[in-house]
Amino acid sequence: MRTHAQAVVIGGGVIGCSILYHLTKLGWTDVVLIERDELTSGSTWHAAANIHGLHDSTNISRIQHYTMGLYKELEQETGQGCGVFQPGSLYLAQTEAREHQLRLQAAKAKLYGMNFHEVDRAEAERLHPLVDYDGIRCIMWEPDGGNVDPSGVTQAYATGARQNGAEIMRFNPVIATEAQPDGTWIVETEKGDIRTPWVINAAGLWGREVAALAGIELPLQPTEHQYFVTETIPEIDAMDRRLPSVADRDGEYYLRQEGQGLLVGAYEKDMRFWAEGGTPLDFAHDLFDDDLERIEDNMMRAIERVPVVGTAGIKRVINGPMIWSPDSNVLLGPVPEKKGYFCCNGIIPGFSQSGGMGLMVAQWIIEGEMQYDMFPWDMARFGAWATQGAAGKTFTKERVRDQYANRFKIHFPNEERSAGRAVRTRPVHDLQLEMGAVMGLNYGWEHPLWYADTPGASDTDGFTRQNWWDPVGAECKMLRERAGIIDISNFSKYRCKGPDAETWLNAVFANVMPKAVGRSCLTPLIGVRGGIAGDFTVTRLAEDEFWIIGSGMAERYHARFFNAVPCPEGTVFESLTDSVCGFNVAGPDSRTLLQRLTNASLKTEDFPFMRSQRIELAGVDVLALRVSFTGDLGWELHCAEADQLRLYTALLDAGKAFDAGPVGGRALMSLRVEKGYGSWGREYSPEYWPQEVGLDRLCKMNKEFLNKAAVADVLKNEMRERMVLLHLDGAMTDASNADATGGEPIFKDGQGVGRVTSGAYGYSVGMSLALGYVKGVENGDMVDVMVLGLPHKARVLAEPPFDPKGQKLRA
Ligand SMILES: Cc1cc2nc3c(=O)[nH]c(=O)nc-3n(C[C@H](O)[C@H](O)[C@H](O)COP(=O)(O)OP(=O)(O)OC[C@H]3O[C@@H](n4cnc5c(N)ncnc54)[C@H](O)[C@@H]3O)c2cc1C
Repeated sequence: MRTHAQAVVIGGGVIGCSILYHLTKLGWTDVVLIERDELTSGSTWHAAANIHGLHDSTNISRIQHYTMGLYKELEQETGQGCGVFQPGSLYLAQTEAREHQLRLQAAKAKLYGMNFHEVDRAEAERLHPLVDYDGIRCIMWEPDGGNVDPSGVTQAYATGARQNGAEIMRFNPVIATEAQPDGTWIVETEKGDIRTPWVINAAGLWGREVAALAGIELPLQPTEHQYFVTETIPEIDAMDRRLPSVADRDGEYYLRQEGQGLLVGAYEKDMRFWAEGGTPLDFAHDLFDDDLERIEDNMMRAIERVPVVGTAGIKRVINGPMIWSPDSNVLLGPVPEKKGYFCCNGIIPGFSQSGGMGLMVAQWIIEGEMQYDMFPWDMARFGAWATQGAAGKTFTKERVRDQYANRFKIHFPNEERSAGRAVRTRPVHDLQLEMGAVMGLNYGWEHPLWYADTPGASDTDGFTRQNWWDPVGAECKMLRERAGIIDISNFSKYRCKGPDAETWLNAVFANVMPKAVGRSCLTPLIGVRGGIAGDFTVTRLAEDEFWIIGSGMAERYHARFFNAVPCPEGTVFESLTDSVCGFNVAGPDSRTLLQRLTNASLKTEDFPFMRSQRIELAGVDVLALRVSFTGDLGWELHCAEADQLRLYTALLDAGKAFDAGPVGGRALMSLRVEKGYGSWGREYSPEYWPQEVGLDRLCKMNKEFLNKAAVADVLKNEMRERMVLLHLDGAMTDASNADATGGEPIFKDGQGVGRVTSGAYGYSVGMSLALGYVKGVENGDMVDVMVLGLPHKARVLAEPPFDPKGQKLRA
């Protein structure tokens, strides 16, 4: 047995085999896959293996399209059949919201050149005559939809990988993975040890157990899942073609032809967890007993829609396990705390995504970063808060229950699911609830989204303006006209302290760190391909001490970048996120309001924009920064968590004299869009180059910093597209009762020219606005933004409608 490999993949399901194949495709041939049993012996062998291209997320759509195209290529390349049937898929909308979702997806498909378009009832009846289309509002057609043979696909990846030089060892369980002092790993198997710089956990149903071998806890939980196959149906038997699959997601089942019958699967409300205490090691090509009663409701809806389902006998029932993450997306990426350990676990649509997922893993490992921004897949979107303690465990379990039971529910923009919460709260949490706060979840923290008139309210969901639209408008107006208090405790905060703090921060960030104590700077963090991996505010508090503030949801993601530059001995870089809370007090009255609580002078000459001071405010020690993401006059005030309630109460009390009060995160979104500010995860992502986002001036090329060579290369290029602010024509958005939310395609004269990244109504300027990326479009041009999938006229603005010259900000 070999004793060394460039990478060791643990698990020979469809995902592990695709990863192995793609590693070889990208040039690594000294790679091994270790499978404890036969290939496919987890979820893979018994899958229904339906494949779909379209997804709400554009990058996931791209990955699914790549995967669908790959299967036929794999057959050619390897000679191994993948059992690809692509008779197409029909998507049915029974509700207005589903219609909005499908129309939006069709608009995206047009922009990205994907095949997905509307058909009328007559065409749908021709395509699938066994469906009853009564009550269907809109039908979309994806000609490439279909299904594959799960074992065939897995074997094809394995054959392709072997042909390219990879080795696959079957019937050889991995029993330990030990990190070595030299940064490599020893993978211990029953047949011997292998040393490698990269361990890749693709152990599917056993992802938790394999991770635990390396001391890693993953938020995963398996469930049962059932589908059944009918006997031959004479109407199908009589056809000379294969029927398309039916995606009737409002009916909560999936349905396709199998043999001369039909296959129907369901994500039932009365779901069942499996193996809560751990996946049994002796489980392989096994199934559970049938329990069709549990999916009876879904079956009845399938029978109503496709009546022949009810006339045929059931030939076979499959009830098998699958393993879920709390948001049903894969947990993918190098574990930030374990160099050389890569996870790819918790995959639900393995057959729609295997190819692109394998490619993303191989790119990340070999090239250092994926070509797409795949943060929704990054395992770093969850932290220890999702696995540890009773709250973490409840979170994962209840989220998985909710994800399973609502698998086909629409994921609305601004959606906030309540299952499994609260996990992490701050001292002001109960007070905020009493004040009517409707909470959202941000990297485990509860944080106020908006304030309802009475406690206990929650969001309504939809693509149109919802119940929070008016209250958020009132909060925005309050802040813009008087003042508002925004809880920003969910921002990530770090301290770097020590003799080499400045040197180290300069080696990490692209901008030059502030020279003078009390000064702040904005700085990008550059990704491996030269894109924007992060944006931070850095403040110098002392000769040897800096505070760094960034995106809360990206804290664990950013840890990978901070770990990439060793911090010199004697200098400490640490997260303060858990121990420090903050408020942003902003608006024209914010200075007068705050001045009542402190002896420190807040006058412009004493406390100008982008400066910081440690001050006492309402008897609380705070770090005050003269910055505000609202784009208005304002201060960020950071204090110890223990002082948060005291500070908040004082701010609210002082606010009463100004008719000022709490403002939530949704209002902040609107305020920053009015000002044209980009935000990490939307406008700022590793996919975008600094010059496209307007951050190139903050990349100081006369010093060394992380990924400088990459950014030097991209800065030589012309912009591919640029970030712009759009004003959506009022009449049309009012008629639709909707604003852009992010992801909407932008067309000009029928040609795709870009897409929206953030959208919001600008209440203080009375404009529906969107930030986005466009190419070949000038300021002042009119374009069509596909809100709800339908064209809405919009003008490209030359400057932000709120405070374009930054006078209020600097006042
Ligand atoms: C009933 C059902 C229907 C489904 N239908 C669809 C569908 O229509 N479309 C779709 O896209 N997806 C579908 N899926 C989901 C799909 O099956 C999964 O997404 C996919 O199989 C996951 O593959 P995997 O490689 O991650 O995991 P697995 O298939 O679980 O493979 C993991 C492998 O790791 C091996 N392993 C574990 N521990 C060790 C160890 N210590 N040492 C060595 N090897 C180890 C296991 O033996 C196993 O072979 C369905 C799933 C079920 C249950």
